[in-house]
Amino acid sequence: MPLIEFSSKGLYCPQGGFYIDPWKPVDKALITHAHGDHARSGSKAYLSHHYTKPLLRARLGEGNYESVEWNETIHMNGVKVSFHPAGHMIGSSQIRIEYNGEVWVFTGDYKLENDGVSGEFEVVKCHTFITESTFGLPVYNWKPQPVIFDQMKQWIQKNKEAGKASVVLAYSLGKAQRVLQPLSESADIIYAHGAVYNMHQALINAGWQLPPLERVTYETPKEKLKNAVILAPPSADGSAWLKRFTPFAIGVCSGWMQVRGNVRRKNVDGGFVISDHADWNGLLTAVKATGASKVFVTHGYQAVFSRYLNEIGIEAAEVKTEYGEEDEGDEKSAEEPV
Ligand SMILES: [Zn+2]
Ligand SMILES: [Zn+2]
Repeated sequence: MPLIEFSSKGLYCPQGGFYIDPWKPVDKALITHAHGDHARSGSKAYLSHHYTKPLLRARLGEGNYESVEWNETIHMNGVKVSFHPAGHMIGSSQIRIEYNGEVWVFTGDYKLENDGVSGEFEVVKCHTFITESTFGLPVYNWKPQPVIFDQMKQWIQKNKEAGKASVVLAYSLGKAQRVLQPLSESADIIYAHGAVYNMHQALINAGWQLPPLERVTYETPKEKLKNAVILAPPSADGSAWLKRFTPFAIGVCSGWMQVRGNVRRKNVDGGFVISDHADWNGLLTAVKATGASKVFVTHGYQAVFSRYLNEIGIEAAEVKTEYGEEDEGDEKSAEEPV
């Protein structure tokens, strides 16, 4: 009997009687991370990593939230459960479950590069590995974070010299916290859209030490926004909210920026190839490192990635889930780069 079934409500462990990242309300939900496609409201009880808990409360409202430390083992109906860093965003975890000597790991979303904020991805040995595949095509190949941060700082400098504000578009949970570092090195004040500001405040209230943000309001004097650096979510693109920063340049932080057509079509001035997900080599490295003999591939390019794994002798199958609707997964281009 498999340790995880792919049910209509989400990933289900029948032996333990719990779900992982369910997309329908359930009694007991184990949550890998706080992005909306993995953490949905309506369940009776939630279990996550300590860092995820305040984010769940901020996004889903009051509820029954419990949390654990990474590598802490708990028992649920005789099933051993533990959370391990996934390196995707603050609190993001892989979930390991063990029963009768058999070990399965579900990654949620993950990346291998340590970004200094999200925790460092841990290789967890297992028999069966369930991996995401958001960027599971060989064309996706990330440069190291410091290289991208340098590009971002140079772009901001260029905008300043041209008398323009720099509007950086990054997901409010995850990427927005990562890019605070280069932005704070480029400006005395980082201005923020409300969506970014609210998540930032939730993290500060939870004890995180992050560079300060100043929320843009109708009262913010126009002259202060001249040549300013502004952090906003991707949804702000094309909105009336942006007009107050005129003249401005837009820079998009996304793995999809690797494909040139996306930069052109989105009409952006700067594309920064920075992702919270593993690239092609990262996915392969992770799969091999786990030593798993069976791999299930979820949201992303699951057909391509699982076919490739089978070709190199790792038994793999694709699985349909309802993940990939928040963070970068939902930005996938209409013009597929295959
Ligand atoms: Zn995510
Ligand atoms: Zn995801």
